[in-house]
Amino acid sequence: MSDSSPRYDLVLSGGEVFDSATGQSQVTDVAVTGDRVARIGPGLAATARQVVDCTGQYVLPGLVEAHTHIFADVSKVGAPPDEAHLRRGVVAANDAGTVGAATFPAFEKHIAGPSRMRLVNFLNVSVLGLIDFRFGELLNPDTLVPEDALAVAAANPHRVRGFKIRLSDDVVGLAWRPLLKRSLALSAEAGLPLMVHIGETPEPLPAVLEMLRPGDVVAHCYTGKPYGILQDGTVLPEVYAARERGVLFESAHGRSNLSFKVAKPAIAQGFLPDVITSDTSARNWHGPVFDLVTSMAKLRALGMTIAQIVPRVTEAPARLLGLLDEGYGSLREGGPAHVTVLAEAEEAVLPDAAGNEITAPRLEPSLVLLAGEQVPTVPWRGAAGSAGQ
Ligand SMILES: [Zn+2]
Repeated sequence: MSDSSPRYDLVLSGGEVFDSATGQSQVTDVAVTGDRVARIGPGLAATARQVVDCTGQYVLPGLVEAHTHIFADVSKVGAPPDEAHLRRGVVAANDAGTVGAATFPAFEKHIAGPSRMRLVNFLNVSVLGLIDFRFGELLNPDTLVPEDALAVAAANPHRVRGFKIRLSDDVVGLAWRPLLKRSLALSAEAGLPLMVHIGETPEPLPAVLEMLRPGDVVAHCYTGKPYGILQDGTVLPEVYAARERGVLFESAHGRSNLSFKVAKPAIAQGFLPDVITSDTSARNWHGPVFDLVTSMAKLRALGMTIAQIVPRVTEAPARLLGLLDEGYGSLREGGPAHVTVLAEAEEAVLPDAAGNEITAPRLEPSLVLLAGEQVPTVPWRGAAGSAGQ
């Protein structure tokens, strides 16, 4: 190779490149060759076949979504994964409880297998999974069949990375405690975390938290429904105690579970989510959720910094889903070239799940690489004239 021949296929030049573990950033270049990150450092553009100027933009590892619903065509809440996520900057995602042991083969065959994204799931403890919101999947408690859930998890370690229970009273009725106990027991047997959906739980949150173990996950930490993390506007001491023990909290916006009136004081008090998630579904991907980058923009408007946000949509979810070893959630030389470049976008009116609104600048994926290959993005679905509005 002569000195003048291109050394790299593509160089993303002059962007703010983030360390996904610390959230610290520096203005530098990222070079990609084939499906790998070849080099990170200054002055790489001169030896590139193609250069993309990323000045003023954020260069991140491909985003990882730890809570979504993507069992399209089987579940009424399933959004199409590539359209809802990949084309909006997310390269790996976790279906959180849409799928149960009885429907897992269909998820594998029709969704997870064919997708270009890296998809995993937290299996619903009910064999039925979440097919239709109108009919709580655990109202018949006999649908919690530990042997079935354990058998699917054991046979599919590449896919099943945890379990999920929804603790709303329209799902579990009054029997929440024995159902949660059995779910904790089966997840312990599998050696996997349990994600617990809160919001409209039958009892105040501390009663749930005291049962959870290190590594378990509370979904919807900023829910405005009873019972949440605040009392009289202050984060409950039991919430901090649970975090201290290693219980994780994720933001899971969803159609009805992000309240600005909860998130704003909680963030001001220093209670940030461990993982930022959108809880995208067929019910909300045309609003109020839209996508993960919109959830990021909302939390920024409510007080979080970009440096705080980046690790929580990259390294933290990749760790939770067991995907760090596969190179998700970080940008490093020799690692897979999954990259999401975000640009500052125009101000927009952004709604929460309760009808409150803030006006804030959005973030927009300007370039998405999946294993070095450029993915065509789609415009924000909240934009006037955008398809589906
Ligand atoms: Zn959800």
